Amino acid sequence: MNHSKPTIYLDNAATTPMHPQVISAMTEVMTSVYGNASSVYSVGRIAKAKLEEARESVAKCLNCLPREVFFTGCGSEADNWAIKGYAMANKAKGNHIITTQIEHHAVLHPCEYLEKNGFEVTYLPVDETGLVSLEDVKNAIKDTTILISVMYANNEVGTIEPIREIARIAKEKGVCMHTDAVQAVGAEPIDFQDLGVDMLSLSAHKFNGPKGVGALIVRKGLKIEPFMHGGAQERSKRAGTENLAGITGLAKALELAVDNLPEKQTKIREMRDYLISEIQTNIPHIKFNGHPTRRLANNVNFCFRYIEGESLLLMLDLNGICASSGSACTSGSLDPSHVLLALGLPHEIAHGSLRLTLSSNTTKEEIDYTVSRLKEIVHRLRLMSPIYDMSLEEQ
Ligand SMILES: *Cc1c(COP(=O)(O)O)cnc(C)c1O
Repeated sequence: MNHSKPTIYLDNAATTPMHPQVISAMTEVMTSVYGNASSVYSVGRIAKAKLEEARESVAKCLNCLPREVFFTGCGSEADNWAIKGYAMANKAKGNHIITTQIEHHAVLHPCEYLEKNGFEVTYLPVDETGLVSLEDVKNAIKDTTILISVMYANNEVGTIEPIREIARIAKEKGVCMHTDAVQAVGAEPIDFQDLGVDMLSLSAHKFNGPKGVGALIVRKGLKIEPFMHGGAQERSKRAGTENLAGITGLAKALELAVDNLPEKQTKIREMRDYLISEIQTNIPHIKFNGHPTRRLANNVNFCFRYIEGESLLLMLDLNGICASSGSACTSGSLDPSHVLLALGLPHEIAHGSLRLTLSSNTTKEEIDYTVSRLKEIVHRLRLMSPIYDMSLEEQ
């Protein structure tokens, strides 16, 4: 760790620090509520009451019923469960699933798994801003289609998909609709009823809650197989003694996140737009990725021509700046991001991507410092780049 410089954390799409009030709510539960929520004696009943309090709070924040809230071990579990659980429970109706090319791997990989097990999956393309077309959704639906899964907002480029409109199409055709809202919950106002989807995934650590806890909102009456088999927890849909501290932390973090959300969004959006314009005025040969307006308030994504995103990240890290690149995100592979490729970027440009994701605490000073470092680093890396050399000679 570099102790000489303060850390500038600009990777809030990867995870967020826990809010102090979340830590105290969890500490209180860990200190005094040790019972098992399934036990009949009072210590257990206290735990059960806490659990249901958290469920009601989450339901209130998202405008769904408490009984529609199912706590899970993470956002990935919620996505896996939605897709595999719905497919397995409804395979008599059909075997076709529609999703997009830009989903998180927690959606794409379960879909690929289902393809190996008799299901057919259509991966819809997106336009150069990352948007799915409603026409494409309509045209992809056939008699065997049982499920549509489209993410609310993309985790790499921040594009916000037309979920309400897609949900309306799904409903007309009698197809179930899931949305991976892991990047959106706590960052965008979400109203489950108004949105009209049947299932929605979220994860606490993306909105200043703890890691290792998420939820799947499942519309009342929807047929879905349990993901975890065992005890009767979570209405017999998700076995396992409840992570009460985590669930309490999730509920508290969500309450805090939705409080004054529009004001916080405005503030973050202003900082984001400042960061975007500073990068654009200070650094040449770049490409802005994602949608100009249908975009998460905190997301900035650029490609810097002639350089590797990985080198950029390492150099930023030496300067105390935490950022992310589309490539090498999960496996340490150097493949360019599947999202940037789906946006139509050629490999060599997609390789030089950088994602900066702000929080409501990000300051102008942090942005100014980041851009000044970035400018110098990009310049230095380009001087070492043979492709940059060649392009200069051509000019
Ligand atoms: C982070 C993320 C996930 C995975 O959530 P975990 O809780 O980390 O498993 C899924 N989908 C999207 C869009 C994400 O950003």
